[in-house]
Order: sequence, then structure tokens, then C-alpha cells
Amino acid sequence: MMNAIQVSEPGDISVLEYVQVEKPVVAPGKIVVKNAFSGVNFIDTYFRTGLYPTTMPTLLGREGSGTVAEVGEGVTDFKVGDKVAFLTANNSYAQYSLVDPTMVAHVPDSIGLDVAAAILLQGLTALTLTTRSYLVKKGDIILVHAAAGGTGRLLVQLCKYFGATVIGTTSTEEKALLAIESGADHIIYYNREDVPTRVREITGGRMVNAVFDGVGKATFQGSFDSLARCGTLVSFGNASGKVPPIEINMLSKGNITLLRPTLFFYITTRQEFTEASQEMFNLIEKGAIKFNICEVFELPRAADAHTFLESRKTTGKILISID
Ligand code: NDP
Repeated sequence: MMNAIQVSEPGDISVLEYVQVEKPVVAPGKIVVKNAFSGVNFIDTYFRTGLYPTTMPTLLGREGSGTVAEVGEGVTDFKVGDKVAFLTANNSYAQYSLVDPTMVAHVPDSIGLDVAAAILLQGLTALTLTTRSYLVKKGDIILVHAAAGGTGRLLVQLCKYFGATVIGTTSTEEKALLAIESGADHIIYYNREDVPTRVREITGGRMVNAVFDGVGKATFQGSFDSLARCGTLVSFGNASGKVPPIEINMLSKGNITLLRPTLFFYITTRQEFTEASQEMFNLIEKGAIKFNICEVFELPRAADAHTFLESRKTTGKILISID
């Protein structure tokens, strides 16, 4: 048996149960990882609340780090004892995870297991958004919502690295300082300022080439209205709720490109995952992106981790530590 967090019905944080469940048994083509840390992401709250439906009961957690405990038949890239980080399907808030090696990375010696658990999901999201969804280039002006959040701070750093001017939105002055520290050139307080009006002022009427919007419902229209002609709106999350259905003809107003990407469809094959994670490790080694771990909770306190995330307190990554 092992300790894990399980959800038996959708709901608020009270549905996160600290339980004992069967330890996973290795299967051909898979590996079992003894987890050291699990990364907490907004997507975990979507599975908990039922915004993203899944079969119940379910474990939670889409990423983690640890050491390989068992290797299934046919797996050649990993051996027992290897230090790894992985993306997975809802099972990393647990002492052990059965994972598909397609999305497992060897962790370089220079990177600790805490950082390793913090970088894959948000890091690869920020990387694929800025290089696959919209190719950020020198001279662009980019609007990044929730610029002091976990994914937001990485987006700001990457947009700056690729040569863009960045306008970041945050809810507080304290968070604005963190967004500026990450490289944001301008800040909009989106809970009290009209975003398109401020974008018009800041850009002298040029507006922005692209918006990275992980806030969703509350910001969608303002993001759309902040775009320059032929601009790109990358709507990639629902922190404030799901974006309501849209009228497709709205895109003809300025020939707008609208995307709703999901990381997992950019890194479906072993080659895609390896290329993207290698690209990211290189960016870390060059110092182009820095990760900030803002809180670590022990496994039985997973509910506190969700409360923290949903209360808008994040300024980087939340981890769960696992014995
Ligand atoms: P963050 O650390 O960015 O936290 C979310 C931030 O959103 C908050 O800090 C807050 O910043 C802002 N926010 C605005 N309105 C709300 C609200 N009503 N409730 C809570 N937060 C709000 O989280 P993550 O980096 O983990 O995720 C950011 C977004 O990216 C999420 O929507 C997530 O689903 C998405 N995502 C999408 C992926 C994909 O593949 N498409 C992959 C990974 C993440 P402030 O106080 O400044 O407003």
C-alpha cells in the first residue's frame, strides 16, 4: 500500500482525501517512480471540481520527480535509481506513480528534485506557447496576463528572451514588482484598470501582436480588444472560469488568430517531449529562465496547496513534498 490523495466526487477542497491505496504494479513499457515531489497545477483543481470530467475515484497530479523504482519489460531508456522528472495522467500526489516513459526526462545533476518537479508542466507550457502557438519575435509587443503567476513569470522571461516588449497584468503592486523582476516592461492592474484602454496608451495606439491569456473568462474580451490587426490571442487556461462560447465572426474584426492550446498535444511523442524538454533545460542552463518555488506543502496538506493556488497567492510554483 502507499499514501496518496484521492478524489471520490467533484467538489471543493474537502473532497481531497489523504488515503492508503494499492501501490502501482509495473507493467510492460512503463516505469514506477518513487516520488520526492509533485508539482501542483491549476489543472489539478479543474479535475477536482469536475470542470474537466474524469472517472471517479481518481488520484490527482500531472507532474512529479523522484527516482525510478521499477522498470517494465521493453523499457530501455531508464534503470532503477535514475533521477527523473515526469508528466503523467493524474497520479503524482502519491508515494509512487506508474508512468509512461514517453514523458519522463533524466534530470541533470545540476538540477535538484524540487526544481525538477517544478519545471516541466509550467516550463514546457511557457516554451510551447511562445515557440509553437505564437512564435514570439524581436520587436513584438506581447500582453501576458497573471504575469506574476507560475506560468506567467516564465512567459514574461521567455518573451523578453525572444526580444519582445512585455506588458504584464497583475492584481496587486506586490505582484507587479515580481512581474517586473521577471522582465515585464509595463504593468496593468487588470482588476481596476481597463486593459484595452491601457494597452492603447502604453503602445501609442499600436496595440499588441499577441496575448497569452491563462485567466480565461474574466479577461477574454479585453484580450481580444487589445490586439493589433492580424494579432494572435492564445487562450490557454481558466483560472477565473471557462471562456463562454464565442461567435466565430468576431475574428474577422482585424483578422485575428485565436488558439486554445494544451501542452500535452505539443509533446505527444517521445521525440516531441525530448526536444522540448532539452530546449527548456538549455534555456535554464543559459540563465534565460529562472524558476521560483513559492510554497512546499507535505502530502497530507494537499488541500492547503489547492487553497493557496485558488486564492491568487502564487508567485511561482507550488510543490507537494512526499516521503
Ligand atoms: P498561477 O500561478 O498563474 O495562478 C493563477 C493566477 O491567475 C493567479 O495568481 C491570479 O493572478 C490570476 N487569477 C485571475 N483571476 C483569478 C481567479 N478568479 N482565481 C484564481 N486566480 C486568478 O497558476 P498556473 O501557472 O498554475 O496556471 C496559470 C494558467 O495556465 C491556468 O489557467 C492554467 O490552467 C493554465 N495552464 C494551461 C496549460 C495548457 O496546457 N493549456 C498548462 C499549464 C497551465 P493575479 O492575482 O495577478 O490576478
